[in-house]
Amino acid sequence: MTSANDIRKAFLDYFARHGHEPVASSPLVPRNDPTLMFTNAGMVQFKNVFTGQEARPYSRAATSQKCVRAGGKHNDLDNVGYTARHHTFFEMLGNFSFGDYFKDVAIELAWNLVTKEFALPSERLLVTVYSEDDEAFALWRKIAGLPEQRIIRIPTSDNFWSMGETGPCGPCSEIFYDHGEGIPGGPPGSPDEDGDRFIEIWNLVFMQYEQVSAGERIDLPRPSIDTGMGLERIAAVLQGKHDNYDIDLMRRLILASAEATGVHADGPQAVSHRVIADHLRASAFLIADGVLPSNEGRGYVLRRIMRRGMRHAHMLGAREPLLHRLVPELVAEMGAAFPELSRAQALIGETLKLEEARFKDTLGRGLKLLEEETERLQGAEALPGEVAFKLYDTYGFPLDLTQDILRGQDRKVDVAGYDAAMAQQRAQAKKSWAGSGEAATDTLWLDLRERLGATEFLGYDTEVAEGVV
Ligand code: ATP
Ligand code: MG
Ligand code: MG
Ligand code: MG
Repeated sequence: MTSANDIRKAFLDYFARHGHEPVASSPLVPRNDPTLMFTNAGMVQFKNVFTGQEARPYSRAATSQKCVRAGGKHNDLDNVGYTARHHTFFEMLGNFSFGDYFKDVAIELAWNLVTKEFALPSERLLVTVYSEDDEAFALWRKIAGLPEQRIIRIPTSDNFWSMGETGPCGPCSEIFYDHGEGIPGGPPGSPDEDGDRFIEIWNLVFMQYEQVSAGERIDLPRPSIDTGMGLERIAAVLQGKHDNYDIDLMRRLILASAEATGVHADGPQAVSHRVIADHLRASAFLIADGVLPSNEGRGYVLRRIMRRGMRHAHMLGAREPLLHRLVPELVAEMGAAFPELSRAQALIGETLKLEEARFKDTLGRGLKLLEEETERLQGAEALPGEVAFKLYDTYGFPLDLTQDILRGQDRKVDVAGYDAAMAQQRAQAKKSWAGSGEAATDTLWLDLRERLGATEFLGYDTEVAEGVV
């Protein structure tokens, strides 16, 4: 079996052989973009290179980029535990051309990698192009020899990428793998495309225009390429699995969770193990990149991810902090590829343990309160906003945790009521000049970081070259 670690290496080696500079992943907290919550794609560290504001000593690069999609424009938090293909933290393999090669070479490189190096059967592959992109359509016909019915024209923004309101943009083309008839889901562009039969493995973006203003789009003098392939998704295909959570890397974490809790990995509580494995990775990598649990901003997203994971640990019957016990397994699996993970191991373990210990009591009591309150509700009635607010304010339940718990019962939260309760409390707190709840970033975490050593975070102020190997 080809391990995820081997696949990452095979990808980077292949592109190095084709003249690409292997570049290290940039941190999950973007250095060059305060508007972005987390790095969510390979191109983020190259934004200024694409726009021409920054020059690099190479015009072709390849990366395996750490990504988190748990907030902002891309949020896959609610997909975890429900689809076979989404994580909050994942690695995006990518090759980039900065004004060097364009569509034809990009398609050829991608097609050769998947069908020759990775030896995927071409009958299982299909691709999409942007409706108006006749050039890409013709190239897929010519280079891959794909029949017309397996090159699907998509008219929506799914196949037109842009950096923002203005800036570089262009059509994209996605490669899908057909996992077979037994699995529900239709091909891209069909009404049930969100199923998990046809899984998107690779997205090729052809940056060929610049949006100058709302009404004006010009051709870029030197078009560029940006691609992204999910490491876990291609690993699933290459390991003969349908589900990302069945690949070696995820399986190792799931088995560690099963072992630590004594609950069978594939029994009725399999979903809890999967969520724990996913949230453990996201939490550990965020902490390694300098994010600390807090009540606002990035730290609050981390806290939300951690607390969702802890709820699942609780469901598995863990009465002592669990997640921190899985950290050594994660470091053993991924520490060689990401040394920052090994460096921060002690900090990750302690942060998880402390946060879990602090949340444990209120988690149990809050769950009990929630159970009592939902028992009183009729049919599909929503949970009153004041209850959700009390869970937040007194028991430390982020709103999305409450929503996630109730999703299993097909029940919603009265969010307007929750917002009103929040606004009322804020107004009162202002009146009495009293702060309420936990401090934004507890000094506890800062002390911990002081004691356990530096993370990537401390490097932000220094003017080091960005992530180049
Ligand atoms: P999907 O439609 O399946 O949600 P996407 O179109 O949002 O994927 P892109 O933004 O095109 O994904 O990202 C490039 C690649 O990264 C995808 O082709 C996929 O292989 C991978 N990827 C995207 N989101 C995730 C995720 N949440 N977990 C794992 N891999 C992902
Ligand atoms: Mg998506
Ligand atoms: Mg997609
Ligand atoms: Mg895509």
